[in-house]
Amino acid sequence: MYCDHSKYPTVYHWLASNDYYNEIINEFDCVECEGSGRIWDPNDPRDIYEGNKLRNRIECPTCKGKGVGPVEPYLKFYSESKERYVRDQALAIEKQRKQESLIKKLKDFLTEDEFARITVS
Ligand SMILES: [Zn+2]
Repeated sequence: MYCDHSKYPTVYHWLASNDYYNEIINEFDCVECEGSGRIWDPNDPRDIYEGNKLRNRIECPTCKGKGVGPVEPYLKFYSESKERYVRDQALAIEKQRKQESLIKKLKDFLTEDEFARITVS
């Protein structure tokens, strides 16, 4: 399993328990070949002039050429993106609080005239 959904029952679990939706869940585009079922042959390198034009394509080893795959990679991507967003927001808030406390300290330390001189606006 890619994601840590095994611990908590989710909508995904409920869907996965249903045979009808299980078919739908496993019919997402394969992440490796983006749903085409074929990938560029790793033994046939990209030409520096022609690029991928004359390059061989082989059957995708992940989906065995079907072009469809399970939903797990997408759920993993979604959960990672969400975690990254939350972490970045927390860091941004912390940075802003530090700046505000620094400004407050400066205000306390300097006179009103000195503070007005060092601020831009
Ligand atoms: Zn594939």
